[in-house]
Amino acid sequence: MVDLLGRLRLAPRRSEHVACADGEEVLAAGELRFRLDAGQPTVAEVSNLSTGYCPDVTCWAAVARALAPLGLHPPTGFTVAMDFRRCLACGEVTLVKERWFVCTFCDADLPSDWNVSLAREVDVE
Ligand SMILES: [Zn+2]
Repeated sequence: MVDLLGRLRLAPRRSEHVACADGEEVLAAGELRFRLDAGQPTVAEVSNLSTGYCPDVTCWAAVARALAPLGLHPPTGFTVAMDFRRCLACGEVTLVKERWFVCTFCDADLPSDWNVSLAREVDVE
């Protein structure tokens, strides 16, 4: 994850981003995979896959800024980009797959714009 100071913080893949961030807000969260190219570490894959933060794809800018000074030659964007949306009908967060903007939990249509940061203020009836 990228903390609020723009620092890249890494943890093992099976750990939680929220724990890595000590429960604080973040600029970005997701998964990174490195590889060695001619003995130099490079970024092979990078995503915004974080079920703890469900970040928008726009957090790429923070990721690029955090990686650049490390000499890791990041790609030009997420190699795998996730679309998370909060359902306005039931309040649950859904990972949108294949551009199908329908809530996994209640079948309501999901907003086209990222809205996960919205607090759960919907009435569930
Ligand atoms: Zn729903």
